[in-house]
Amino acid sequence: MSAAIIDGKAFAEGLRERVGALAADFTAKAGRKPGLTVVLVGEDPASAVYVRSKGKATEAAGMKSDTIRLPAETSEADLLDLVGSLNADDSVDGILVQLPLPKHINESAVIAAIDPNKDVDGFHPVNAGRLATGLNGFVPCTPLGCLMLLKDRLGDLAGKEAVVIGRSNIVGKPMAQLLLGESCTVTIAHSRTKDLPEVVRRADIVVAAAGRPEMVKADWIKPGAAVIDVGINRIDAGEGKTRLVGDVAFGEVAGVAGAITPVPGGVGPMTIAVLLRNALVAAHRNAGVPLEKGAI
Ligand code: NDP
Repeated sequence: MSAAIIDGKAFAEGLRERVGALAADFTAKAGRKPGLTVVLVGEDPASAVYVRSKGKATEAAGMKSDTIRLPAETSEADLLDLVGSLNADDSVDGILVQLPLPKHINESAVIAAIDPNKDVDGFHPVNAGRLATGLNGFVPCTPLGCLMLLKDRLGDLAGKEAVVIGRSNIVGKPMAQLLLGESCTVTIAHSRTKDLPEVVRRADIVVAAAGRPEMVKADWIKPGAAVIDVGINRIDAGEGKTRLVGDVAFGEVAGVAGAITPVPGGVGPMTIAVLLRNALVAAHRNAGVPLEKGAI
């Protein structure tokens, strides 16, 4: 193996510590803790695990964590009413509605109902527009975490060729916007892209977010490229066991890439750490407490 391993777990721990220190400063200045409220509708087991770990991480950072659990049959109107009351509550700095929502609820309508200044997931169309136009807003946690890892590893990204595989609103598109904001030359690939290996081969930076287990192979990678693997796929490991793999064939790609994130332990831990960072920023903005530029 020649690639340096990008240790997202260690980076995320450092970020959480910095958030914790700044949260303590905020509490001293504002006379209250920064507050994040997570809404979970229904009993999807994976969502329940995510919500529990978000709550624990929020508290561990010295922030106020509230989790509102609603039954799966909650109506869209009732959920919109709840979001409205959280928008109006000054002690709530960040609101996160855990996705996916039950099928009878229109996710886009719920996301659009969240106050953009409390939208710590960065999914609101106003925040997507701010990102696209270079204005200050909330950026989705996973792509922002990927960018932090890339800048930490590579420094200035200007002029680099970046290929993002995937064009979802929560990963691919915002990732491409962030890289464009860093003056990369960006290509967004998707399921209709022709000759994907050839497209990926020109990249100095590859971000794989397709949800396809071990799709990206060694011969797709330009020697020395930085490879960020967003994919989280559970595959059969035989004997009734499963294991997690990314969208990149880690073993072979690590022999060609210059740097690579592992799965697990790469991008995954960054998502919650960046969520805490976004909630901290929301608290400062909503309470009118200044946060030094570049502090986090
Ligand atoms: P989506 O399913 O919403 O989007 C997947 C994207 O990949 C689509 O744009 C799709 O193209 C594209 N795609 C699918 N198959 C191929 C292919 N064979 N070749 C090229 N492009 C392809 O997924 P998400 O963006 O939500 O998530 C992507 C992955 O990242 C998943 O594995 C998910 O689990 C993981 N994830 C990890 C997070 C973390 O914290 N680490 C957070 C969020 C997601 P098209 O648009 O044409 O259909």
